[in-house]
Amino acid sequence: MIDPFGRRISYLRVSVTDRCDLRCVYCMAEDMTFLPKREVLTLEEMDRLCGAFISLGVERIRLTGGEPLVRKGVMTLFQSLGARLGGGGLKELTVTTNGTQLGHMAEGLYAAGVRRINVSLDSLDPAVFKAVTRWGELEKTLDGIFAAKAAGLAVKINAVALKGVNEGEYDRMLAWCGEHGFDLTLIETMPMGEITGERVDQYLPLSLVRAQLRQRWTLEETDYRTGGPARYFTVKETGGRLGFITPMTHNFCESCNRVRLTCTGTLYMCLGQEDAADLRRPLRDPAVDEAGLRAAIEAAIARKPKGHDFVIDRRHKTPAVGRHMSVTGG
Ligand code: SAM
Repeated sequence: MIDPFGRRISYLRVSVTDRCDLRCVYCMAEDMTFLPKREVLTLEEMDRLCGAFISLGVERIRLTGGEPLVRKGVMTLFQSLGARLGGGGLKELTVTTNGTQLGHMAEGLYAAGVRRINVSLDSLDPAVFKAVTRWGELEKTLDGIFAAKAAGLAVKINAVALKGVNEGEYDRMLAWCGEHGFDLTLIETMPMGEITGERVDQYLPLSLVRAQLRQRWTLEETDYRTGGPARYFTVKETGGRLGFITPMTHNFCESCNRVRLTCTGTLYMCLGQEDAADLRRPLRDPAVDEAGLRAAIEAAIARKPKGHDFVIDRRHKTPAVGRHMSVTGG
């Protein structure tokens, strides 16, 4: 699938649920209302839709959320998608998780064919971790991370850079990740959905963070890519990798290869725009066959916009897009 700007679309992110067992302050309000279950696709429907995307050239699928691992029975989706790896056209199946369920699910993920996971961890300080996640316990997440490592999964830690919150921790996190063989990616906070408080108070430009880290660490340029938006450096002192996802300070849309499916079957062609295509209707319409479903996907790709226009400053009081990150997934 080639979009109107000549970009090949080969990466699908699927939010399997909008529900989450944490309430990260930059992601959602504490009293979020979630979708009624009847609006959410079944796991079989998600598998069928993913199959249509794979037949159109999608090679990489990442399951996300909400928290993907709290969706009941989600392991069956990992297994059915895992069966499409290799000869089935899929090259990689990954997941983004907060880690709370990994203690009992990591081995199952590996058995299903997952080899690489992203775990969100914004702080190594128990009190800060609690303050950011509202409902989380650092120890539980760490147990999950080490269960993943023991199961043979390559772990990348994702941390959202938050001004005055985890700002002083990146040296420690870099050293800790190096010690345990995890890559680390820092992410700029994006203006998505209403939250409690002001985004401008949380926003920390990574251009600044990188310059500061460079005073203490040797960051060597690398062309290592995982298919996502992160730009990586090798950290000479640890041998590990440090990635930066900079939707605010550096727009990376020119190389975008992704589209995002929500748990209701809505396809967002851009994380930062409102335009979307309803794939649940053709999926559930008995008159629409596989070719019709593929045509609906292709019509959506033909509308993929050039990029996002995120701004965080005191003049922009409303978020760039109304939906929270938990709807489209990270
Ligand atoms: N629950 C899973 C997790 O915690 O990784 C997957 C979903 S979560 C929405 C995916 C990623 O998005 C996490 O790394 C989270 O920190 C990040 N995220 C959420 N809201 C964000 C925002 N407004 N700006 C930047 N990153 C955000």
